[in-house]
Amino acid sequence: MNRRISVAIDGPAGAGKSSISKVVAKKLGYLYIDTGAMYRGITWALLNAGISIDDVDAVEAALSKIQLELRVEETGLSVWVNGTDVSQDIRTQYVTSHVSQVAAQKAVRTKLVEMQRHMASAGGVILDGRDIGSIVLPNAELKVYLTASVETRGHRRWLELKDSENISLEEVCRTVAERDAMDMNRKESPLVCVDDAVVVETDHLSIEETVQTLVDLIRKAELGGHHG
Ligand code: C5P
Repeated sequence: MNRRISVAIDGPAGAGKSSISKVVAKKLGYLYIDTGAMYRGITWALLNAGISIDDVDAVEAALSKIQLELRVEETGLSVWVNGTDVSQDIRTQYVTSHVSQVAAQKAVRTKLVEMQRHMASAGGVILDGRDIGSIVLPNAELKVYLTASVETRGHRRWLELKDSENISLEEVCRTVAERDAMDMNRKESPLVCVDDAVVVETDHLSIEETVQTLVDLIRKAELGGHHG
């Protein structure tokens, strides 16, 4: 039987991390943890409670009152905040445009990184985010940096949003680029491509091709003996 490893998938917004990871995890019987959804859940909770997200002390004080839960369901992961299912609400442009400001705060990261390590502790997991290979799981047996041009990524995000929100392609591309800049230039755990990551460029790959690329990488890493 293959070893069940820990897989870290990082990359900028709209690179396809969550769509791909979800399918790959299902194929391999791995647990998929969408860490971006956790940062979005906290952001939703703060905005909903009327907390000013620039106020670092107010955010830190509010954190202990936010009960965040990821539930594994038939249809995928759902995100719950204080007993309410917010899985849809965390995908709105409103939450998206505030999440990087919240994710830049140390207290928020400390809380979520601890939860993520705990959830990943049994192995057989795929975590996607910005700091998985660098901070959350530095010993992951496989690290992937999934990326594509800002035009490709903006276009994908726009396709997801265009039926529910009145937003132009240009605006989505601009917010994707702004979010990347904040995530890459922040002080706390910025998005980086670590030296030991395999870079997968998805501009010219279909979802199926990207899924297959990752399945092959994971199968190979499961066989690698040097980690015990
Ligand atoms: O992956 P997703 O686009 O849902 O992530 C939303 C935001 O959460 C990112 O733009 C980033 O600011 C933050 N994030 C993070 N660290 C992670 C995952 C997400 O800072 N591990």
